[in-house]
Amino acid sequence: NKQIILKNYVSGFPKESDMELKINSIKLKVAENSNSVLVKNIYLSCDPYMRPRMTKTEGSYTESFTPGSPIVGFGVARVVDSAHPDFKEDDLVWGMTGWEEYSIITAPETLFKIHITDVPLSYYTGILGMPGITAYGGFYELCSPKKGETVYVSAASGAVGQLVGQFAKLCGCYVVGSAGSKEKVELLKNKFGFDDAFNYKEEQDLTAALKRYFPDGIDIYFENVGGKMLDAVLLNMRIHGRIAVCGLISQYNLEQNEGVHNLFCLISKRLRMQGFLAFDYYPLYQKFVDMVTSHIKEGKVTYVEDIAEGIESAPGALVGLFSGRNVGKQVVRVAPE
Ligand code: NDP
Repeated sequence: NKQIILKNYVSGFPKESDMELKINSIKLKVAENSNSVLVKNIYLSCDPYMRPRMTKTEGSYTESFTPGSPIVGFGVARVVDSAHPDFKEDDLVWGMTGWEEYSIITAPETLFKIHITDVPLSYYTGILGMPGITAYGGFYELCSPKKGETVYVSAASGAVGQLVGQFAKLCGCYVVGSAGSKEKVELLKNKFGFDDAFNYKEEQDLTAALKRYFPDGIDIYFENVGGKMLDAVLLNMRIHGRIAVCGLISQYNLEQNEGVHNLFCLISKRLRMQGFLAFDYYPLYQKFVDMVTSHIKEGKVTYVEDIAEGIESAPGALVGLFSGRNVGKQVVRVAPE
């Protein structure tokens, strides 16, 4: 059983060498009456929230990884053996699993069974999985978008952002996204249907850049990055605007978070700024999947993935999220479907 092990807690930017490949020759078996299942992992998901888990943290909503043990994350897997009444051999599932070829899942209640299989299975790490419900809940439920409103999305070509932009278009909003390369900006405009897009790395003055794209201001900001971007956005928000704080990736590798300077805008513009977690919207999962799968089949929503081949490539794929190497949702294929 090949496994990707976290060697030790990480500080600063994570490196591939913070993880190592190990081969564990212990044969995995589900114990009778254990309620656990044995799965064969097919796809593993690389997600930014995994970085805080590589640090010893307390009081976070996720637990730290255990150095010396396999990384844990979302994945798509096939059940190989089961001691749980709800799961049987050959069931396809998505949810928390280990970064290894085979995993014993001791709390399979946390797994979602996959029923719709005429879409790529890897989608259950992205558009039909945690990032998808994040985009759906954060945008529709938290931002209450209305036709004609202006929407700005940062890290817009990624797993969550590309969907938020497409949802905004489905709502009749005007949407602009930012991303960190020319290739990503092209994707935003030509593949995901954003009204406009820019490369934030090429802008000296983010406040002026946003003013260019939103001369009358931003109604909804879907926040994925934080830091300087948030400060520039605050100055460009419209009165009664909403900011959904999904993530702050620019801060995850810093020893000390950058301060935000323009919070007074919350008062003067009567803004609503709210954080949320994907889990908050899990009760809406079925409603969300029904909507999105029909959109996928009708060609109204598309999804770009960046699939790395083989479990050996997982450390590099995860680390790449923090330099923007991924183009679309970063997935690792561990085994054929
Ligand atoms: P992405 O697929 O967007 O990958 C991360 C991207 O972030 C990179 O490709 C890069 O794109 C960008 N990035 C990396 N470092 C920086 C930086 N210093 N400044 C600006 N941009 C940076 O990831 P996801 O879509 O999975 O996640 C997006 C955000 O949503 C993250 O903040 C994540 O933590 C958050 N999230 C929150 C959830 C929740 O429950 N609240 C659930 C899922 C995600 P580029 O080339 O454009 O710079």
